[in-house]
Amino acid sequence: MLNIVIFGAPGSGKGTQSEKIVEKYGLDHISTGDVLRAEIKADSELGRAAKQLIDNGQLIPDDLMVSILEAKLNALTDSKGVIFDGFPRTIAQAEALKKMLNKHAEDVTAMIELDVPEDELMTRLLLRGQASGRADDNEETIKKRLIVYNEQTSPLKEWYKNDGKHCYINGLGELDRIFNDIVAAIDSRI
Ligand code: ATP
Ligand code: MG
Repeated sequence: MLNIVIFGAPGSGKGTQSEKIVEKYGLDHISTGDVLRAEIKADSELGRAAKQLIDNGQLIPDDLMVSILEAKLNALTDSKGVIFDGFPRTIAQAEALKKMLNKHAEDVTAMIELDVPEDELMTRLLLRGQASGRADDNEETIKKRLIVYNEQTSPLKEWYKNDGKHCYINGLGELDRIFNDIVAAIDSRI
């Protein structure tokens, strides 16, 4: 199986590039942000709890997030591989993912880091907020999300370097150039 972690700050283009990767490699796409937004829309108990945290720029607790991910993963059948979008966001989540995959004699094939400067992230997210009305894409919440990213999520770069899986991609510029760089990184590992 081809298991890809797509990684980067909020607004780095994970969702956009995931769609192109899914199309090219025929992978299943698990976006934890999309899963949580669906729960919010359905007004489930989980959705209501998640909304409080998301609107405040905070992460959902690891144990909850790991069980959500595990359920999504176990629901897949005949999968050629998975693109993990928005997960892991903490070292505890990365360790849990490795354990889950290892149980099936699988592992992450590559971790794709989309690197984008913070001023560009802010510009993109404010635009997305205007276009989509996403409640967490406002200046105050974006600032909190960037702090959470820097403190809790960005240490995963080192973690995946140590695991031999980290691939750096310049996430600033033309969508097609970024995608070509991602394809080259993936193809060098399969
Ligand atoms: P991008 O714009 O690159 O798609 P994003 O950070 O804007 O990324 P999502 O990945 O959609 O947005 O996540 C939205 C919110 O959902 C996060 O800010 C966080 O509160 C919550 N969330 C999503 N995935 C996780 C996770 N793995 N662990 C904890 N919280 C999560
Ligand atoms: Mg997304």
